[in-house]
Amino acid sequence: MKYEYPSVYETFRCIGGACPDTCCAGWEVDIDPDTYDYYMETEGEFGRRLRSHMTEDEDGDIYFPLTPEGRCPFLNRHDLCDIFSELGEESLCRVCTEYPRYYLPAGDYEQIDMSLSCMEVGRLFFSDPEPVRYLTQEDIMDGDPLTGEEVLRRDEILRRRDEMLAFMRKSHSETADSRFAALLARFPALSPESDEDLLSVMDRLELIDDRWNDVMIPIRTNLTAIQKHEREFLNCAGPEFDRWTGKLISYFLFRYCLNVFSSGSWENEMRFIRRSLRFIRLMCIAREMGLLPRSSYGGRLSGQEQQERCNCFTLSDMIDIAHLYSKQVEHSDGNVELLRTISGENIK
Ligand code: SF4
Repeated sequence: MKYEYPSVYETFRCIGGACPDTCCAGWEVDIDPDTYDYYMETEGEFGRRLRSHMTEDEDGDIYFPLTPEGRCPFLNRHDLCDIFSELGEESLCRVCTEYPRYYLPAGDYEQIDMSLSCMEVGRLFFSDPEPVRYLTQEDIMDGDPLTGEEVLRRDEILRRRDEMLAFMRKSHSETADSRFAALLARFPALSPESDEDLLSVMDRLELIDDRWNDVMIPIRTNLTAIQKHEREFLNCAGPEFDRWTGKLISYFLFRYCLNVFSSGSWENEMRFIRRSLRFIRLMCIAREMGLLPRSSYGGRLSGQEQQERCNCFTLSDMIDIAHLYSKQVEHSDGNVELLRTISGENIK
């Protein structure tokens, strides 16, 4: 197998109790079959505690429901995991072990990505002054077999994705926005979309995190003012924001292009990427205008990272905006599918 991943995969360490928005709250925890068997056999008081929280949903899947405060029942008051403390890291459910890593195999190739919904990933990702780097490793494992035609198709998708990533990485005099516009021009079937139409799609998303209402309502209410402020925002935000935009574009290209192998549609993936980038931009402007609540992540940034902030929109803002968007959109297959597939004529 050949594995490919962003460099942040190697440097990331979960910060546990110091995390400003722990992944152990807000999301129910799915219990995979192996972990289920292990928890069923766990003896003693802790085994009984595990089983007392295990719940079956209507599809027969087992999960830990959240407490009324919206937290995992094993997240203690120090924001540490009791399962980890009692039974060790190897006893966590698969989803807890893997997050914020995502795995997407295609035959003997596997793409590993790191989700920006984790703010520590975001801190490492955006504070690195270098363009995003992707690393590879190989081992002797076999992947699921593919036909010769499938291997050719997959390799062509990867070639095209890598060519777009290289285009974004090049040191151009053009902004990241212009380079992305040049990439989009390669997909003429993708018709332009107004911000109003984009908001109509965003209004249909399943609500994953209650804080999303604090994003949608101000943006919907102030869209015209946000649009008018964009030029001033970009002038003020300057090269730092342009660098973060370039990184975000690379993030989405790496994460979603390989989906073309199963979906067969470049347009759908590029539509999703374009919509994501545009909505994140609206969020950034709204944050700078004071329309969205500010995060408290600045406390974890080093002195140097604090200095990297632009005048009007900080690294802390960028980390927080990307994490809010990722939580609301990327962690719902339905939301990703909606943004990918619903096209112009079906919006209203
Ligand atoms: S969101 Fe990231 S840093 Fe925070 S607890 Fe989860 S994995 Fe750790």
